[in-house]
Amino acid sequence: MVADKPADSTKEENNQTDILSSTRTVIKTALEKLGYPDEVYELFKEPIRMISVRIPVRMDDGSIKVFTGYRAQHNDAVGPTKGGVRFHPGVTEKEVKALSIWMTLKAGIVDLPYGGGKGGIICDPREMSFRELEGLSRGYVRAISQVVGPTKDIPAPDVMTNSQIMAWMMDEYSRIDEFNNPGFITGKPIVLGGSHGRETATAKGVTICIKEATKKQGFDLKGARVVVQGFGVAGSFLSKFLHDAGAKVVGISDAYGALHDPDGLDIDYLLDRRDSFGTVTKLFNNTITNKELLELDCDILVPAAVENQITAENAHNIKAGIVVEAANGPTTMEATKILTDRGILLVPDVVASAGGVTVSYFEWVQNNQGYYWKEEDIDKKLHETMINSFNTIYNTAKTRKIDMRLAAYMIGVRKTAEASRFRGWV
Ligand code: GLU
Repeated sequence: MVADKPADSTKEENNQTDILSSTRTVIKTALEKLGYPDEVYELFKEPIRMISVRIPVRMDDGSIKVFTGYRAQHNDAVGPTKGGVRFHPGVTEKEVKALSIWMTLKAGIVDLPYGGGKGGIICDPREMSFRELEGLSRGYVRAISQVVGPTKDIPAPDVMTNSQIMAWMMDEYSRIDEFNNPGFITGKPIVLGGSHGRETATAKGVTICIKEATKKQGFDLKGARVVVQGFGVAGSFLSKFLHDAGAKVVGISDAYGALHDPDGLDIDYLLDRRDSFGTVTKLFNNTITNKELLELDCDILVPAAVENQITAENAHNIKAGIVVEAANGPTTMEATKILTDRGILLVPDVVASAGGVTVSYFEWVQNNQGYYWKEEDIDKKLHETMINSFNTIYNTAKTRKIDMRLAAYMIGVRKTAEASRFRGWV
């Protein structure tokens, strides 16, 4: 699990190098299988635009601290680029690039009129005050304002960013733009043009995928033992939804450790005690490590934290029959192969976690229309989208005898590839 500060930044950088190069490998294979010429891959292997910014912030002690941030725009052939902004000490340029490619795939899978984008700032929000976070959020928007906007590139929440941060960013952009511009960013508070159901959207989408996956594997979610790694927005809501659906959540974790109870954890109590970054295990003495958590005896494992958690080192020890990726990039390509060879059904991130960007799209549409929808309308549309996407990818994987990750890349890359060709780019 991610340490508070990367213990070894070279190692961290290498991990991110792997994420980008392994993403490229799967993109290349997917494009080849679809019969696209090599120049499409040449265009897709890097974002069309990547900017690096320096953001000076006056800290509470009066000093100025300069932060580094990034925004990657992978491809805007289909429409504006779209994707979250993460605040994390381990953010790297290569990671943000890979994440922007994954957003292109997600948008393609759930058929949104977007390309992929992603941003990140190297910082630790857990060690910053509210005022410092506001300065950083506003400074980031000032630094990237020329290349983003409701018809260019639309940011959203991601790891350790939330609706308050989106509100500051929207306000800063609206001031620069000199009019109220809610469609610049999604994941806003409801009173500022946010959408019902956006906060829970990723978790709801993952829950739908888990239900579909259990049906395919021929068992019932009711009574199934689930382990969820990460207790952030996705992990905590997901634990609640699974618990309410009758599953037994036997393990959860945060950045500092993990909790295990074979009889099922008291999820409502844990939700009540978590802080806004999802930290909860510090309140307990009898914790286990994140490494131990992943190898617990269970039916369903949901990595909902950060990248590179299931690797060639531990993939052989995973006991779950179904792994559903709520985080972006939690399983390496080597581990994907090991799990697949072992007959474990792996539902990849680009489909499982696409509920977030789906409801972000609904939010943007509502902002553009100035007409706001009811929560049940959002839920219904999200449900339909997730069920269709899951089944298309599951069936493609079965028919072509490939794993669900490659199937998802093939489905996800197609729309942007077609749009890039029609535009005459490749
Ligand atoms: N950060 C989320 C993701 O990785 C959501 C992006 C969005 O809503 O635009 O999918």
